[in-house]
Amino acid sequence: MQETLIKTDKLIPLSGLSKRQIAKIIKEDLGWESFRTEQIHNWIYVKSSNNISEWTDLSLDKRQLLAEKVKIPLLKTAVREISKKDKTEKYLFELEDGQLIEAVLMSFEDRDNLTACISSQVGCAIGCPFCATGKLGFKRNLSSSEIIDQVMNIQRIKNCKIDNLVFMGQGEPLHNFQNLLTAISTLRDSVGIGARHITVSTSGLIPQIKELGKTKIPLNLAVSLHSANQAVREKLVPIAKQYNLFHLMLALKEYFENTNRRITFEYTLLKDINDSEEAARALGDLVRDLPFPCLINLIPYNSTGGEFRRPDREVVQRFKTIVERSGRKVTVRVTLGSDISAACGQLANKFNAQ
Ligand code: SAH
Ligand code: SF4
Repeated sequence: MQETLIKTDKLIPLSGLSKRQIAKIIKEDLGWESFRTEQIHNWIYVKSSNNISEWTDLSLDKRQLLAEKVKIPLLKTAVREISKKDKTEKYLFELEDGQLIEAVLMSFEDRDNLTACISSQVGCAIGCPFCATGKLGFKRNLSSSEIIDQVMNIQRIKNCKIDNLVFMGQGEPLHNFQNLLTAISTLRDSVGIGARHITVSTSGLIPQIKELGKTKIPLNLAVSLHSANQAVREKLVPIAKQYNLFHLMLALKEYFENTNRRITFEYTLLKDINDSEEAARALGDLVRDLPFPCLINLIPYNSTGGEFRRPDREVVQRFKTIVERSGRKVTVRVTLGSDISAACGQLANKFNAQ
């Protein structure tokens, strides 16, 4: 697997690394004995400490040298906002090159666990017209360390353990494929979040979906469908012009055969665009006969300040009932953190999009 270590201002980044990557720094940059790897890995991931002065199983000299040579953490927490409506928290992180990304921490009342929604890119190249990140355009990929450091920073600041991760923040995770895989491997091995607790959401990049399946990592895959009609979908998810619905479903079948994981379809409901009864029937028809298990998650549109509108509650319910006739499970996503622009698709709203 390709290793991505970004060295800036001559400091070696020590956050968000795998044990193997830490071992490389210990050996090549510091020339220390190999058992130091375990100690440093332990401080970072088990004790969640980024304060080198408290790494007391290293001598004072070693701690001083380390403090001069390495950088930890990688991300600066610029803003932390806590919702007044629910327990959602939004974090704005500043990267070393000054770019900003966001992550959201959610807790659901009916479940006793924490889910973090994290970013995989700065901006996004897909350009879905209803999404705040799409409007930013693509800036750059995040390194695997920057992906992991979002999780570590939240855990440290909130003093908590994150149970579930969703790649539903900024960016198209499968456009940053190699760094995503490296990050997932460290999230499993070092941070302790199992693949079954990680969801990757994609706009539907067929070659990468197939590649991901071939890794046989038992991740949850969520696919942003938004319409069962090819022409409508092309308007909502521009990459659909390249990867049509028929081939997408074939790729998902292959993904299921490789991983044995149920697929989630996300469907953002936009008033008068994709929320008609006919659209619901088309979606029901599409999912009814698919040769793999799937779940449909309806997301009532969250405002991003454009011309799109959220359908009325009754329309959402009617849509759900019609799709349920397919025999597939249908859920409606609850809107969390809307007062701090932390709901789906609102990321990048307040800070970046000016
Ligand atoms: N780029 C990935 C993951 C990030 S977005 C993807 O598109 O799948 C997570 C989900 O929120 C996607 O299904 C996305 O289409 C949806 N979404 C984006 N903007 C939204 C908005 N304003 N309201 C509701 N859902 C939105
Ligand atoms: Fe990118 Fe996803 Fe937003 Fe589309 S919905 S622009 S793929 S982040």
